[in-house]
Amino acid sequence: MDLGLNGRHAIVCAASKGLGRACAMSLAREGVELVITARTAETLEATAAEIRAATGAKVTTVVGDITTEAGRAAALAACPDPDILVNNAGGPPRGDFRNWTRDDWIAAVDANMLTPIFLIKAVVDGMCERKFGRIVNITSASVKSPIAELGMSNGARAGLTGFIGGLARQVARHNVTINGLLPGPFLTDRLRGGFADAAKRTNRPIEEIIAERSASTPAGRVGDPAEFGEACAFLCAASSGFIVGQNLLLDGGGFNSTMG
Ligand code: NAP
Repeated sequence: MDLGLNGRHAIVCAASKGLGRACAMSLAREGVELVITARTAETLEATAAEIRAATGAKVTTVVGDITTEAGRAAALAACPDPDILVNNAGGPPRGDFRNWTRDDWIAAVDANMLTPIFLIKAVVDGMCERKFGRIVNITSASVKSPIAELGMSNGARAGLTGFIGGLARQVARHNVTINGLLPGPFLTDRLRGGFADAAKRTNRPIEEIIAERSASTPAGRVGDPAEFGEACAFLCAASSGFIVGQNLLLDGGGFNSTMG
């Protein structure tokens, strides 16, 4: 299926590893020119080289913290008029809300709600004028099904999702779409780290923890980040302009409901 994206320009935030990297790879396969960001230069450059080698796409790297104004400005300077924006950043830490300070909350809201909102603010009017825009926000399955110890993630991402529900409907008539991708368990470094902690805590091999988590999803496995990247590219397709303000759960069926 040709997604009609050849020659388009994208900013993919937080894309040296995991889900962001997978989105970048899938878009590059469709002929999209990329700006990818992350804080660590070495891994970012290595990923850019891998994407170029695999796809032949033009990939520009921007090292910086996307949750800061300077980080966002650098990404936008490298690609001021993107056709595609994939919002992503690290997630807030786990814990007990009794221990979280106001500063902890502000950091979470900054990273997982205000950062995507300010990036969207910078690009969405240009997309409307050019009559093409695809914005994908990587959030979490926790937006639909809260994970108690990830309270700051539940809260900040739900705030973003609520805001987008309104904005997506204001810009859709210009062929600009904004949708959320909600990952369940995908085997990235982040999830592997969580499994490693659990293995240590319970004094069990990590393979056992992964097998347990895999068995708990109807699909009987955890997700492959490449599958996530393909879903992102699909939402960005030229023919996806009627998919507006949706929140697509990719969780192997883990969220139990009759629909949606
Ligand atoms: P990951 O494997 O740890 O990769 C995170 C990527 O983001 C890395 O490239 C990292 O590079 C970059 N990054 C992190 N913070 C950044 C920042 N402030 N500025 C710029 N780049 C930044 O994580 P992941 O599993 O792909 O997760 C991506 C997002 O999805 C997170 O918000 C996570 O909470 C959420 N999520 C993931 C899962 C899952 O199963 N994997 C499930 C639900 C939600 P640097 O560290 O070098 O900056």
